[in-house]
Amino acid sequence: MPFTFDNPNTFANNPLDRCSEKRADSGWIATTYADPTTLVVPFWKLKPFTMQTPQGPTVGFMKPGLCEKLMGEGAPLVFLGRDKGGAYFAADISAARDPESDGPLAGLGTFKDLRQLALEIPAGDAAILGQARSLLDWHQTHRFCANCGAPTALAEGGYKRECQVCKTEHFPRVNPVVIMLAISGDKCLLGRGRNFPKGMFSALAGFIEVGESIEEAVARELFEEAGVRISSVTYHSTQPWPWPSQMMIGCFAEAESEDIKVDENELAEARWVDRETVRATLAGKGPDGFWVPPRLAIAHQLVKAWAERE
Ligand SMILES: [Zn+2]
Repeated sequence: MPFTFDNPNTFANNPLDRCSEKRADSGWIATTYADPTTLVVPFWKLKPFTMQTPQGPTVGFMKPGLCEKLMGEGAPLVFLGRDKGGAYFAADISAARDPESDGPLAGLGTFKDLRQLALEIPAGDAAILGQARSLLDWHQTHRFCANCGAPTALAEGGYKRECQVCKTEHFPRVNPVVIMLAISGDKCLLGRGRNFPKGMFSALAGFIEVGESIEEAVARELFEEAGVRISSVTYHSTQPWPWPSQMMIGCFAEAESEDIKVDENELAEARWVDRETVRATLAGKGPDGFWVPPRLAIAHQLVKAWAERE
């Protein structure tokens, strides 16, 4: 990419040029795939191939020609983009029975969950794998036309599926989610979802509904989940979240009061936490039984940005 943004989130800052003006040309895709500089990363059941080095895990990018025989019929091979060194593709080899111990990749590496891997590899690689994971998940779940039910086929390097009968075009979707830290003076609002790990408190979040702005979704979710009314919303950053394809939109919201009325279907608890406690928690010296999400999550970046604010 010609420039980068000041975005602290894992899976953001993807370094590839997605070549959207070229990838609609299947001849260009085929020529690019055959180029000796091209690298492909196999995914098995949505887990990327990784190899272990003395410095830690590394993404199992490989030359084309090694993993294709593990792909089932019609399995997606998607174009991710290009950097100065060459092009990147991802191949879905989920049809293989046990590729870690059988076939051309046997003994070379393992398939790791991206949540576990993302913080152990360079940030650019994590962004590339997040993009690949979302795309491959979409292909797995959109094999049939939502309009007429006929099979669809991959097109434009993986950025489209076309119905073979009614010709409807289907594009990978992104699901917007607001995640927000309500602020009141020197306190922020943190909540515990009913299914959270013990002691973890996070920013509240929810899907944006049809016909709703970001600001409206922030206000609605804070009121529904915690009974908190707000007077303003400011944007912080976004995070592409590849489970399967969320766009996390991080915001701060100014609360009108500190009254809380928790919706017990959504939250186990919500509380106002002062900045000193949050700072101590981020430094690993917080109160017993209280912690915030790890840095993989945008919630962590929101809490950190607020805690470090002058
Ligand atoms: Zn159709």
